[in-house]
Amino acid sequence: MHCGLCLNACPTYRVLGLEMDSPRGRIRQMAQVAAGAPAGASYIAHIELCLACRGCESACPSGVPYGRLVEAARAEIECTVVRGPGERRIRQFVFGHVLQSPAWMTFLGALLYLYQASGVQKLVRALGLAALLGRLGEIEQLAPAAEPPFFFNKIGKTFPAEGQRRYRVALMAGCIANVCFARLNEATVRVLQKNGCEVAIPAGQRCCGALHVHAGLRDQARTLARRNIDALADGYDAILTNAAGCGTALKEYGELLAGDPDYAEKARAFSERVRDITEFLASIELNRAMKPLPITVTYQDSCHLAHGQRVRTAPRKLLAAVPGLEFREMPLSDQCCGSAGIYNVVENEMSMQILERKMRSVNRTGAQVIATANPGCALQLRAGVRVHGNGQRVVHVVELLDEAYQGAKTG
Ligand code: SF4
Ligand code: SF4
Repeated sequence: MHCGLCLNACPTYRVLGLEMDSPRGRIRQMAQVAAGAPAGASYIAHIELCLACRGCESACPSGVPYGRLVEAARAEIECTVVRGPGERRIRQFVFGHVLQSPAWMTFLGALLYLYQASGVQKLVRALGLAALLGRLGEIEQLAPAAEPPFFFNKIGKTFPAEGQRRYRVALMAGCIANVCFARLNEATVRVLQKNGCEVAIPAGQRCCGALHVHAGLRDQARTLARRNIDALADGYDAILTNAAGCGTALKEYGELLAGDPDYAEKARAFSERVRDITEFLASIELNRAMKPLPITVTYQDSCHLAHGQRVRTAPRKLLAAVPGLEFREMPLSDQCCGSAGIYNVVENEMSMQILERKMRSVNRTGAQVIATANPGCALQLRAGVRVHGNGQRVVHVVELLDEAYQGAKTG
């Protein structure tokens, strides 16, 4: 198929204007490799420069499943590419240990907190030292704030519904989110409690494996998926996440484990119960006992929510439910902000160019607050506000609901 209707939906094509960095061009290259052409350095570079944002999937009238194609291409690259020993060790450490281990994350989170709370980070930034650190400096600019006490201490606990219990739900707390979005996770629990949910944070849960899938490490993702399925085997009404990237991966467990005779059916049933937090709240009778929030808010669609899960109206419906809140739609709200998992780290230059364009759209709205439904987007947009913004606050939609519930008159 060569219609090209996907081209303008592609952030890398919009920046570079190159066919090879468009969805159509990438599909052509994948087809050539599938037909026997060598998967050379140029092919790998074009595939790796893709954000896997799936904006092209939404734009494609023929329903080309681009996300699956690029994941398969990356898995194949991962099997054939020979990485240097340093890169191999870093990847093994990050994907095989850090993301899978609460102990490692707690340790590294504590180091990050020390770096930030001791004032060293401020000094590094004030003296412009980050620029001297090369790739490490780029990562430093994007580093999230560590938020002790970490949410790991809530795992294994159950929080009662406020008032009459209407639902029993389980929350997937994420991996890095336990350290860097602990307050968001707590706000998520409070909002669910306000809406009649008993909220379990099941013990034994781990990283959802989304980052592993994006990196082509499907076997590691399968191991994590099996573990999560076992941990959440109890019959919850819904399995919830406040991270759109995780939600997409969790909803695709059925596909990930389709070839596993022991888990295929369990994985399918698990995925059917997964809901993004905004999707779930918009589907139930929402508790309207909120105080007014007199603020102007724009919304950045997370790619994994808008394109991966086709959830667009739910977050907007929730924002519209907050009294006093004025919503301002931004142009191209469903174009990627450049975050895309760890894309902003590994493809920092392109990511920053995409972010600059995104911030132009944000600034045009004049909104004081940027709401999103994905922690990764929130981090990226905060970096965008620091460099190109007008002091906007960046929050998750659920955090605004939480604010509106705090101090609201009840009854
Ligand atoms: S997934 Fe995103 S970056 Fe990749 S080709 Fe599609 S629109 Fe472009
Ligand atoms: S991927 Fe879809 S939109 Fe893009 S060129 Fe092919 S058919 Fe057209």
